[in-house]
Amino acid sequence: MSGHTDMVLVNEEGIRIDGRKTDEKRNIKIEAGVLKNADGSCYLEIGKNKVLCAVYGPRECRMRHLQDPTKAIITVKYNMETYSVSDRKRPGTDRRSVEISKLISEALSAVVMTELYPRTTIDVYIEILQANAGTRCAGLTAASVALADAGIPMRDIVPAIACGKADGKVLLDLNKEEDNFGQADVPIAIVPSTDEIVLLQMDGNMTREELEYGLDMAFKAAHEVADLQKDALLRKYTNKKKEASE
Ligand code: ADP
Repeated sequence: MSGHTDMVLVNEEGIRIDGRKTDEKRNIKIEAGVLKNADGSCYLEIGKNKVLCAVYGPRECRMRHLQDPTKAIITVKYNMETYSVSDRKRPGTDRRSVEISKLISEALSAVVMTELYPRTTIDVYIEILQANAGTRCAGLTAASVALADAGIPMRDIVPAIACGKADGKVLLDLNKEEDNFGQADVPIAIVPSTDEIVLLQMDGNMTREELEYGLDMAFKAAHEVADLQKDALLRKYTNKKKEASE
């Protein structure tokens, strides 16, 4: 975000280094139910990001002091694999992963009907296999598909995507170079049926007008991501039905 480069991130025609237009998101691939032994799972790619998510639960919360008698707690473990970035990342939990886990848990708690499962825990494991900026959005998008795949009742799916600014232009879905050398990064996650915001962060600087323009792009893109999430779930269940009838 605060870095400097002589590299042109957005050219005079408004085309970015990966060939996208300013309001274009990266290619997205979503597959639900990819792991046999988890209750729910999802594999997601957005551009060069690759994410795997597994969900277990709701199951009895063994750690009594963490139990909530009124609802389930959603425990998220966001983990960036050592080999996910170009310089080998030190394995294990760090401040960044703790913070990202917490904010993903809060975003999911807004849609999961946790009140149906008091004293239980729903465990969400997010593995970042390959990172290229936007992994918290990719992880959250995958996690809500995995929760739905696990059959956990939710008010809605949660799509997440970032907007931001690089080379003085407002952009959708920043890649690594744009994130590193740009002026702002604004990840956002929404509840599509109500347009509620369940995650919004801003790193860097933008004018109010730029932010409003960026959020408009992000909302529109998030609705498109939600359609892809629903498609993935539908595909999984139509395939399962087909297998059962064969
Ligand atoms: P997000 O992935 O949600 O955009 P950040 O803005 O913190 O989160 O990170 C941007 C990108 O920087 C990541 O997607 C990843 O490509 C890279 N990155 C983050 N942490 C590390 C790290 N410890 N080592 C190397 N690269 C990292």
